[in-house]
Amino acid sequence: MASISMKNIVKKYGDGFPAVNDVSIDIADGEFVILVGPSGCGKSTLLRMIVGLEDITSGDMMIGDRKVNDLAPRDRNLAMVFQNYALYPHLTVFENIAFPLRLAGASDSEVTEKVNAASKTLELDEHLQRKPGNLSGGQRQRVAMGRAIVRDADAFLFDEPLSNLDAKLRGQMRSEISRLQKRLGITTVYVTHDQTEAMTLGDRVAVLKRGILQQLASPRQLYTNP
Ligand code: ADP
Ligand code: ADP
Repeated sequence: MASISMKNIVKKYGDGFPAVNDVSIDIADGEFVILVGPSGCGKSTLLRMIVGLEDITSGDMMIGDRKVNDLAPRDRNLAMVFQNYALYPHLTVFENIAFPLRLAGASDSEVTEKVNAASKTLELDEHLQRKPGNLSGGQRQRVAMGRAIVRDADAFLFDEPLSNLDAKLRGQMRSEISRLQKRLGITTVYVTHDQTEAMTLGDRVAVLKRGILQQLASPRQLYTNP
């Protein structure tokens, strides 16, 4: 795990108004920060700069004490948890979680040990031989997180993970993510345009508007001082 520190981050596409305009956010080790704002406010761009999928025009991006501006995504040790979970339908839960370890050439015993530990934490140990198609949305989300956990990633990054779900499932998933995050205590950056998610999930909420950081506060502070 690690802290993430953004200092005066700017992103310009072409010569228009900056998509991200002088944003500074310090995320503590283990903290859950939500990036929220209307469509086009720059939240995906900011997330993609953290992950390394987008070049930073100016400013410093730090993970722990490493400056990562010029590091490729694979060298940043972060785990993106994708919207559609990107699970392999033909693989079991075990093999889905094991996937990054297999890619990295881990031994069978290391794979077994790490997948078993992660699936215990995520309460998936009863489901290891099932296929994603037979799982609930919440279970699938946990498999996706399991994949991130076995990699010992420094942080989780979510890009609108619940936006394709219906309202009821979204509510269930909110509680599930919140519960897991508290248990795991992994540094998390979570992008959403949904106010309810922003106000119920995170330790702190970063409100963006036209690329500018408008507010950075706990949900409680935002409620009492909107
Ligand atoms: P959000 O995730 O909040 O919807 P984005 O980060 O996707 O916002 O976009 C922020 C701004 O940057 C928008 O004005 C968008 O049109 C622009 N933008 C995003 N990606 C690109 C790109 N690849 N090329 C040019 N402009 C882009
Ligand atoms: P959307 O804007 O619809 O959410 P994106 O284009 O932002 O979708 O999807 C994320 C992109 O990140 C994908 O193209 C994926 O291939 C790429 N990607 C590659 N490696 C990583 C990584 N290690 N972490 C996060 N994203 C990655």
